[in-house]
Amino acid sequence: MARAVGSERKLLAVYTGGTIGMRSELGVLVPGTGLAAILRTLPMFHDEEHARAHGLSEDILVLPPATPNQRILYTVLECQPLFDSSDMTIAEWVRIAQTIERHYKEYHGFVVIHGTDTMAFAASMLSFMLENLQKTVVLTGAQMPIHALWSDGRENLLGALLMAGQYVIPEVCLFFQNQLFRGNRTTKVDARRFAAFCSPNLPPLATVGADVTVNRELVRKVGGKAELVVHSSMEQDVGLLRLYPGIPAALVRAFLQPPLKGMVMETFGSGNGPTKPDLLQELQMATERGLVIVNCTHCLQGAVTTDYAAGMLLTKDLRGEMTAPLVEECRPSLQGNALGRGVSWLLGLSGSQEADALRNALMPSLACAAAHAGNLEVLQALVELGSDLGLVDFNGQTPLHAAAQGGHAEAVTMLLQGGVDVNTRDTDGFSPLLLAVRGRHPGVIGLLREAGASLSTQELEEAGTELCRLAYRADLEGLQVWWQAGADLGQPGYDGHSALHVAEAAGNLAVVAFLQSLEGAVGAQVPCPEVLPGV
Ligand code: ASP
Repeated sequence: MARAVGSERKLLAVYTGGTIGMRSELGVLVPGTGLAAILRTLPMFHDEEHARAHGLSEDILVLPPATPNQRILYTVLECQPLFDSSDMTIAEWVRIAQTIERHYKEYHGFVVIHGTDTMAFAASMLSFMLENLQKTVVLTGAQMPIHALWSDGRENLLGALLMAGQYVIPEVCLFFQNQLFRGNRTTKVDARRFAAFCSPNLPPLATVGADVTVNRELVRKVGGKAELVVHSSMEQDVGLLRLYPGIPAALVRAFLQPPLKGMVMETFGSGNGPTKPDLLQELQMATERGLVIVNCTHCLQGAVTTDYAAGMLLTKDLRGEMTAPLVEECRPSLQGNALGRGVSWLLGLSGSQEADALRNALMPSLACAAAHAGNLEVLQALVELGSDLGLVDFNGQTPLHAAAQGGHAEAVTMLLQGGVDVNTRDTDGFSPLLLAVRGRHPGVIGLLREAGASLSTQELEEAGTELCRLAYRADLEGLQVWWQAGADLGQPGYDGHSALHVAEAAGNLAVVAFLQSLEGAVGAQVPCPEVLPGV
């Protein structure tokens, strides 16, 4: 969650090159060294008086106070060599990630000063390289050198330093023209204008004007206390293929040849492509060879909603890079009833803390409702949403209670396989087995018994009166499910009479025969009652 932080904040600014620090040599712009020295001369980037008064070392720059009690100190680490970002490759981005890793504990946040041409790629790569990121990483650059009279570089760099210094936004971000974007959602859209980047399919994480507005629902949450993991071994043999109408299968075949190991395929609309059999066959053969194909729409907004070819099932969102398809499109069956629509709505909620809290509060009840209705699809959707099906609702019931009560053998099997405790008692002390007995669901009782369910001593004792009632009513089926659940059918009722006594007194011969056939199970040794129990 984004939050403003107080006192002194230390940042590391990794300067990799780009126009922001370029100088003109023989009429062309080339990466320029000495960015820190330039910044030191610009009062908006360095408060020399404060630095001197506090004896800050030569390599530390300090911003003028953003708020009365806060100072942002930063060190510029200049890479060797500096790059026009068009020349940068995965190797350079790995080095940036490793630099962040090396200094991770020393600094509160990181700014990466980068050329704009490949900054969106860099931000995207870094977002995947840095797992369990708990600090703010902001990439920025400029369309014009920082020392030029008319430059966007000063605002961009100052904004990036302020965002990284004042807010904990644990993501790899890109700051440009007063907007902080999620890095892996950005694209460079203009070669000259200062508004060079946009994030067409996700609103900015923050916007800077007279006030800073942080879009809190969008900011990814910090995942516990997990350590930063830097993935530095990245596959290079990954290609990008943009489909176009009439693309020849032979051309696609040529593209898919080794060493290619993975391909991002930009398709039309919501993930569609030509259905020509020869083209599909090429894709099919490639996936059978182990090539990973990710289907990505070339539309700037929306999402892929269909699996176009085998091997396109990259559905896990790792760093907030994915826009989930609209739920109704991917799970039409959920739309059939109110329950399914409720779950669809939950699935569609963004990953803010508020949304998560709402989901967590609603999920046990929804899971119970789905289990009671035997709706496996909704149950499955809830599992995918991260629901723990062992959680209890307001009555202390697990979905297994609900499925057992509803008599849904498939749901019971799914829940048992999911590890839901078979003997949990609800707030009334009822187990799933007892509810299955009451609901008379022999199939479910069998499944629960196989999974180790048993009636508690209290349930067995209380069963006596119920057994007598069933015997009086000649309810053979009712007695059979108790027997199947492991009850002692000789258990006396509240007045000491057993079911057999009651059946004999009532002349229910079929019940008498049944009870007598259960050798050793019926406690019929007490005298026959003269008066029937008041059942
Ligand atoms: N060619 C430059 C680069 O990407 C462009 C820029 O920084 O704006 O390094």
